[in-house]
Amino acid sequence: MEIWNNNDIYLTEQLVKEPTALQNATKKIRATPYPPMEVSPAQGKFLYLLAKIQNASRILEIGTYYGYSTIWLAKAVPEGGVVVSIEQTQAFVEMAKENIAEAGLYEKVQLHHGDASLILCNFIDESTSPFDMVFIDAHKPSYPKYLNLCLKLSKPGTIIIGDNVILGSEISLATNPKAEGVRDFIQNLSAADDIESTALQTVGIKGYDGFTIGVVGPAKSKTPQPLKIQ
Ligand code: MG
Repeated sequence: MEIWNNNDIYLTEQLVKEPTALQNATKKIRATPYPPMEVSPAQGKFLYLLAKIQNASRILEIGTYYGYSTIWLAKAVPEGGVVVSIEQTQAFVEMAKENIAEAGLYEKVQLHHGDASLILCNFIDESTSPFDMVFIDAHKPSYPKYLNLCLKLSKPGTIIIGDNVILGSEISLATNPKAEGVRDFIQNLSAADDIESTALQTVGIKGYDGFTIGVVGPAKSKTPQPLKIQ
């Protein structure tokens, strides 16, 4: 809707102050046939602020695309911090590499090319240090699997964000097969006893969508404790 766009553009101009490297990266992708799958500038700044609020020094991103949100996140991590970002499409990895280098953030980003589930399983096998923040922005049917693996790479206090959970307003329609993965993801968030979550719907230059956000807490014991008898 025009009013959403106009307000988003106004707020972005006033508050976001999108870095030139990000503006240039977006200009380059618009000259290709690839769709505008990245987060909006206002959403990118929101992720950056969340990372700052969290004081995150280790961030995991699933779905790099051309590095737009990766760059916002990398700008938020302190010296010595890292954004580990996973991308399945080789062409996107190459674009992201170039954009991240142009933003001067090459040392703060580890790009991994391949299947995210396999890469996450490797991280778990290698006992990789837990992440402070996770941003899932990838293949929607895989969200439940990614959540399960990301919880194993988390610690109490880790925040986990799931992007694009509204699917063009159809998420609450049980009859839409495209929504199944995201509905399962939301159901798993609801059922998991070691993460507290909510979801927010968004409007703006990216249309109508939304994201989930959750914070990992201490896992509750799966074994019922014996009753204390006085
Ligand atoms: Mg997205």
